[in-house]
Amino acid sequence: MTPDAVTPGGGRGATRVLVLNCGSSSVKYRLVDMADGRRLAGGLAERIGEGDGGRIVHTSGSGKPREQSHLFPDHAAALKAVAEELRADGLGLDAPGLAAVGHRVVHGGTRFTAPTLVTDEVLDEVRALTPLAPLHNPANVTGIEVARSLRPDLPQVAVFDTAFHATLPEHAARYALDRAVADRYSVRRYGFHGTSHQYVSRSTAALLGRDPAEVNVIVLHLGNGASASAVAGGVCVETSMGMTPLEGLVMGTRSGDIDPAVVFHLHRVGGLSVDALDELLNRRSGLLGLCGENDMREIVRRREQGDAEAGTAFDVYIHRLRKYIGAYCAVLGRVDALAFTAGVGENSAPVRSAATAGLEGLGIAVDPARNALPPQGPRLISADHSRVAVAVVPTDEEFEIARQTFALVHRSRG
Ligand code: AMP
Repeated sequence: MTPDAVTPGGGRGATRVLVLNCGSSSVKYRLVDMADGRRLAGGLAERIGEGDGGRIVHTSGSGKPREQSHLFPDHAAALKAVAEELRADGLGLDAPGLAAVGHRVVHGGTRFTAPTLVTDEVLDEVRALTPLAPLHNPANVTGIEVARSLRPDLPQVAVFDTAFHATLPEHAARYALDRAVADRYSVRRYGFHGTSHQYVSRSTAALLGRDPAEVNVIVLHLGNGASASAVAGGVCVETSMGMTPLEGLVMGTRSGDIDPAVVFHLHRVGGLSVDALDELLNRRSGLLGLCGENDMREIVRRREQGDAEAGTAFDVYIHRLRKYIGAYCAVLGRVDALAFTAGVGENSAPVRSAATAGLEGLGIAVDPARNALPPQGPRLISADHSRVAVAVVPTDEEFEIARQTFALVHRSRG
């Protein structure tokens, strides 16, 4: 697409960006005005392709959420419902001021290392990456196709979850595998949650009143999926997820790091098929596998009541986290800040406390009273004497996608 072809979108004064995050059975969306960063509307359409029980929860501005039941046979039906909800607020896809649609795309492989204007060729290349993200990329492609069909004149921008990690040096990206086999099958470490790591590392620098280029940050994105990254002067140099989002930290339902020979063993001795192993490691492991529960609030509550399985699940989770903090201190050499984000990182004082306890030798000391304060905006929880600033920084992947989308469209317009 030439820069000229971008201009028709919403015209030069258009400052709104619609962000679409299409998962395998859901669509998260947000309309942002980039003139002032305001969230104009947003919501979630769920249970796509799952028969009954589909619904859309839509919030306009700072109003109350409104919920509607729907049958969503496919993503096209869900996206049409999203467009209708927006139209009801006078914010439909044909309303003036819409500059572009920004799409979260999970896997960009080695091909896409920056936000990219969608063309037919780009869509073909994203489709070709499906073997690396079989659950996610097809849903992302469908979202783009439907949005394009609704507004063919509007720029559509793909923002890749892997892109922020494209700067990983080869020694961090390459597995110690036979080089020819690894290269033939695109086996390497890509990393995920990139928009979150980028947003949080930059926001942490802002919280410290410093230029991102000056600070080294360890970001701990602890949600249902969890990943850590080491960001040196704004550049990602290491991250815990690998070829897929299965590697690294203990997560809600994913095992994170495991000896790969466990897979051979369970196949040969346990008779588990490849699909059964995939399901085991991605959906029935992690906190859920350890104690039957993947909500950290419930695990902390059960542990406090003396539940041994919940106690072990918490300890395994924290131990892995501490190993990564230590490793990333070594990777970075000098650490200026440690930032906690996402559902667990932003909300769980017990997790932050246990993850950082006894790390004074690494310059990390958390103030218990600051840590215990209820969630609020970005804030410091480190003790005054802590050499490393410890921060809680709410992530905002949708805003970051909107920002990157708008910046690209703006640049293209010249
Ligand atoms: P996310 O994937 O970022 O939406 O995070 C979802 C996870 O955050 C849930 O599975 C919960 O385990 C966790 N979470 C949310 N609120 C809290 C809280 N107040 N305390 C501990 N964990 C929480």
